[in-house]
Amino acid sequence: MKCALVGADGAVRHAERHPTDAERGPDAVVETILTVAEGLAGKARADGLTPTALGIVVPGVVDEARGVAVWSANVGFRDVPLRELAARRLGLPTALGHDVRAGGLAEARLGAGRDAGHVLFVAIGTGIAAAHVVASSAATGAHGAAGELGHILVRPDGPICGCGQRGCLEAVASASSVARRYAELIGPTSDGGSAADAGPGRTMVTAAEVAARAAAGEDLATRVWREAVEALADGLATGQALYDVETIVLGGGLAQAGAGLFDPLRVALRDRLTFHREPRLVPAVLGDEAGCLGAALLALDKLETP
Ligand SMILES: [Zn+2]
Repeated sequence: MKCALVGADGAVRHAERHPTDAERGPDAVVETILTVAEGLAGKARADGLTPTALGIVVPGVVDEARGVAVWSANVGFRDVPLRELAARRLGLPTALGHDVRAGGLAEARLGAGRDAGHVLFVAIGTGIAAAHVVASSAATGAHGAAGELGHILVRPDGPICGCGQRGCLEAVASASSVARRYAELIGPTSDGGSAADAGPGRTMVTAAEVAARAAAGEDLATRVWREAVEALADGLATGQALYDVETIVLGGGLAQAGAGLFDPLRVALRDRLTFHREPRLVPAVLGDEAGCLGAALLALDKLETP
């Protein structure tokens, strides 16, 4: 959990990190969130500041209008009325949001998408998720599930995705998919096992390492990286057809591949656009603080429109 005291100007006054320890179950995680938030409010008062609002963002499906964490695979939330619980505990106006949408909001307002009215933020890590930000607000969807760009079908006969469908974007182009594909192609290791099922003492080559090996001209890495870039370009072209944004901000671990990702991806995206305008394609600048800053923005927005 990344936690911070943030001023009305968006400046971080104090930051803390705490382990989520999701294996303790959702009730324990909720209790930790509330305890940490209380601690932060106390720290603010001790420093002579006045806490005015609380923002919390969580992964999964989040109903922002009702303030409910509807579902989360990682933390195990099922219909947790987190906004109400937190507002009651702290006595502050509270906003509940979605982690990637909040990260996109922060990048659009404070980071790489500044000065663009229409931004698509795409986080590429173990999965792929997106936020469409228009006029300083990230669209939530009717059911709190907008922005699932990772589950656009890009390869009808491609690998099985975590969602159960075949050929989703994130099954081809997420950091974990790139690493898995490379391990599959490199084949059985010298001790007879497969590098794909990396056991104890055997580490799988990471997506960042695949990118580095591709940049160095290794054939297999070049092939895997190319497949990922082509799939990403398909996904982003679909995103651009739907949203017509000025700027696409790429975040998450894979975006740190820098020019090795952005140069071929710009070309591949351009190849796919016909009458649509080409968006600016830029790396995120707020790093893993983006979601936390986005939570603060949601809290500040809450004060303006209670
Ligand atoms: Zn999927």
